[in-house]
Amino acid sequence: MERVDCVVIGAGVVGLAVARALAQAGREVLILEAEGAIGTGTSSRNSEVIHAGIYYPQGSLKARLCVAGRDALYAFCDSHGVPYRRCGKLIVATDTTQLAGLDQLQAHAAANGVADLQRLGAAEILGLEPQLAAVAGLLSPSTGIVDSHALMLALQGDAEAAGALLALHAPVARLEVLATGLRVEVGGETPMSLHAASVVNCAGHGAPLIAAQTVGLAPESVPPRYFAKGSYFSLATATPFRHLVYPLPEPGGLGVHLTLDMGGQARFGPDVEWIDGLDYQLDEHRAEGFYAAIRRYWPGLPDGALQPAYTGIRPKISGPGEPAADFRIDGPTRHGVPGLVNLFGIESPGLTSALAIGDHVRDLLTS
Ligand SMILES: Cc1cc2nc3c(=O)[nH]c(=O)nc-3n(C[C@H](O)[C@H](O)[C@H](O)COP(=O)(O)OP(=O)(O)OC[C@H]3O[C@@H](n4cnc5c(N)ncnc54)[C@H](O)[C@@H]3O)c2cc1C
Repeated sequence: MERVDCVVIGAGVVGLAVARALAQAGREVLILEAEGAIGTGTSSRNSEVIHAGIYYPQGSLKARLCVAGRDALYAFCDSHGVPYRRCGKLIVATDTTQLAGLDQLQAHAAANGVADLQRLGAAEILGLEPQLAAVAGLLSPSTGIVDSHALMLALQGDAEAAGALLALHAPVARLEVLATGLRVEVGGETPMSLHAASVVNCAGHGAPLIAAQTVGLAPESVPPRYFAKGSYFSLATATPFRHLVYPLPEPGGLGVHLTLDMGGQARFGPDVEWIDGLDYQLDEHRAEGFYAAIRRYWPGLPDGALQPAYTGIRPKISGPGEPAADFRIDGPTRHGVPGLVNLFGIESPGLTSALAIGDHVRDLLTS
């Protein structure tokens, strides 16, 4: 059996950041990716927003890794020439019943270390965005957008420069806990068996499946899988907005918000639709709900201006009606298997947090 120091499963933004951190720490790293290219999963089906870290429960991994990851990401983009824009975002209250919600959000953000939110009145909001209808809002100056594909290529480049290898078309079928390390069974066209001292399971939606196929890992260490689809519609015309615009959060997501891509095009979404499996089909009829949601803060949205764009699916480990789960990054002290780290439920803000997740996993495997 071929021996390798460290296997990272999955070449999404998180797997690439983990591989980079481990390779730069001197580990020999092999990345195994089921598909024929990097970043074809959730990492290319999201809003590409660099989140400030406002919403997450205080002290949670989401809160801590988002704030650390955001700062690391801006610095990484600067040093690696990854396109980004610190465009800022407005969170708007559209009627007075939402004012208390804004206050709570601002206090919550401050407790998470996001102390730069500015409270704005209706006139100040109109000064920034003349088309917005809001009674008050919060401006988050440290929110931005990033070119997620350029980011993944830069992470891959760093990982490879530090000696990591990437194998495409290499789906991991099964793991087995051995006396020393783990056996990794790879399926696909050229099946093989590897012996790895460490395995980091960053397979996104596939992570609980791989954990369930790990001989020697207790079944209680495998969370359930849930799928919350988010659909996006893009604006057919030029956008009148310079900032990202968010309503107050709703159960399961952040509400139908307006984001901008690096090309300056506006898109709206994602909404929340609980589904049974990985089905990326976009239901064009959902546009009706979008018009209604968007017109609460942008009454001037013209009829027919929304075009179907794409969908993404949140890799949830808590179901509808349950409190949103934190990121689950299970190291040896949690499940008792030396050398194994399983990452579950890496939904938003996973893109923002990727670099910090990489450091966190490296530390779990070296402590
Ligand atoms: C609708 C939506 C909007 C979002 N918006 C934002 C945002 O604006 N900002 C933000 O910070 N975060 C956002 N996120 C979250 C962010 O996109 C994810 O947290 C992040 O992309 C997860 O990356 P990942 O590498 O864990 O997973 P993925 O990108 O899904 O990568 C997993 C990889 O593992 C591979 N794989 C699966 N099974 C196997 C196997 N058996 N063997 C080998 N390889 C396998 C897959 O092919 C895939 O390449 C959003 C998510 C969604 C769904």
